[in-house]
Amino acid sequence: MTETTSPKPTKKVFIKTYGCQMNVYDSERMKDVLAPIGYGPVDGPEGADLVVLNTCHIREKATEKVYSELGQIKRQKAKTGGKMIVAVAGCVAQAEGEEIMRRAPVVDLVLGPQAYHKLPEMIARVHRNTGERLETEFDTMEKFDALPKQRSVDGPVAYLSVQEGCDKFCTFCVVPYTRGAELSRPVDDIVMEARNLAAQGVREISLLGQNVNAFHGAAPQVEGGEDWTLGQLCRHLAKIGGIERIRYTTSHPRDMDDDLIAAHGDTPQMQPFLHLPVQSGSDRILKAMNRGHTADEYREIIRKVREAQPDVALASDFIVGFPGESDEDFEATMQLVRDVNYAIAYSFKYSPRPGTPAAEMFGHVPEDVKDARLQALQKLLREQQTAFNKSKIGQTVPVLVTGRGRLEGQAHGRSPWMQAVHFDGPAELTGKIVDVKVNGATMSSLSGELIRAREVAL
Ligand code: SAM
Ligand code: SF4
Repeated sequence: MTETTSPKPTKKVFIKTYGCQMNVYDSERMKDVLAPIGYGPVDGPEGADLVVLNTCHIREKATEKVYSELGQIKRQKAKTGGKMIVAVAGCVAQAEGEEIMRRAPVVDLVLGPQAYHKLPEMIARVHRNTGERLETEFDTMEKFDALPKQRSVDGPVAYLSVQEGCDKFCTFCVVPYTRGAELSRPVDDIVMEARNLAAQGVREISLLGQNVNAFHGAAPQVEGGEDWTLGQLCRHLAKIGGIERIRYTTSHPRDMDDDLIAAHGDTPQMQPFLHLPVQSGSDRILKAMNRGHTADEYREIIRKVREAQPDVALASDFIVGFPGESDEDFEATMQLVRDVNYAIAYSFKYSPRPGTPAAEMFGHVPEDVKDARLQALQKLLREQQTAFNKSKIGQTVPVLVTGRGRLEGQAHGRSPWMQAVHFDGPAELTGKIVDVKVNGATMSSLSGELIRAREVAL
């Protein structure tokens, strides 16, 4: 693929992103695909030539939001005399493509997560008024090969997709159906993208995948031989000048191998943060979810990670009210949370998804019981998150400055433990790692005083 410099934008594109980090990454890449045909990003749909909704299908609520947003977009499109092109991308597009076309005639294009490199061609079809308006084929490698090699990034933190899809088939989850089978990118491609990011001033990369630690990409050509694991990839990326911080998300407990855990201890760029969703603390529910491990096996992984990197902050996802979940099962989840002590966690009420095995199971939990359990769990998680943040008060922590703070003269950044940090300092520090003495903490952020900036090895 040859590189071309993008023309000055003559048309406006508004991309609205729902759901996971993978969608955030995909939306960025859609901008890269659209730039060569003259589209520049704008912050709202008013007057846009193209609106893309990059959707999420993980819970029913997320899907409903798309249809209500399309109602708003319809009014905006009318104001442009019908000229605005409306595209629905992402997992709702993959799962409900035909349905969207039928229910929302305002939509001109529907494209699944593996088809967004085809956007320019599809836009051309709308202008010509010919050809297919629905693209939901699965061909992940074709997508990565067709994407522009050059990425335009804004700021020192970037996502880098290394793996897509999922073969785990948890009984509650639509991802294996909307994102397709697990597939890893070759290491050489990832390294090229990482070097490109570093050259643009990126200091922190978050490696992305639906199941990122299942990564098994082809080794670099010079190494030949077998596929590499995520631990090998992280160690390799750590050698790129300028890449000061490496994270990865989201991991599955079953793929948390010893080498990856060891990398947390022996590779300084590996940040002390691990998002390792457990979903439930009850073995009975974990089995019904098809998670493939017990609560004690999960505790053992956490013990090993803490041994390798003692200051690691732990994050998780939880589902309450999975079919058949009893008070006792829920109490097992609360006990696991007390045992692990999380820095941050995301918790959801179980949402039945059409076509998944759990939706057909017996023992659906009444909504009011789900509500009460979610409240109890979130109260405990909020307490843990606040306590974790407060434990940093008095410490001097390295902060990667990501931009201006909300208040005049303030800068903000990110701690190694993924906390937002605000301090008085100039915006020119953006992209630098500075030492900040923490003197305040809330549930959602830290505040502190700038001590000094550090040198970055390039
Ligand atoms: N691959 C990751 C893992 O295995 O933990 C999770 C990916 S999924 C996009 C993000 C989170 O959404 C899950 O961890 C789960 O907590 C939640 N989720 C998925 N399906 C759900 C459902 N049907 N109802 C409620 N929450 C769900
Ligand atoms: Fe969904 Fe389970 Fe795959 Fe995570 S591991 S994406 S929860 S099927």
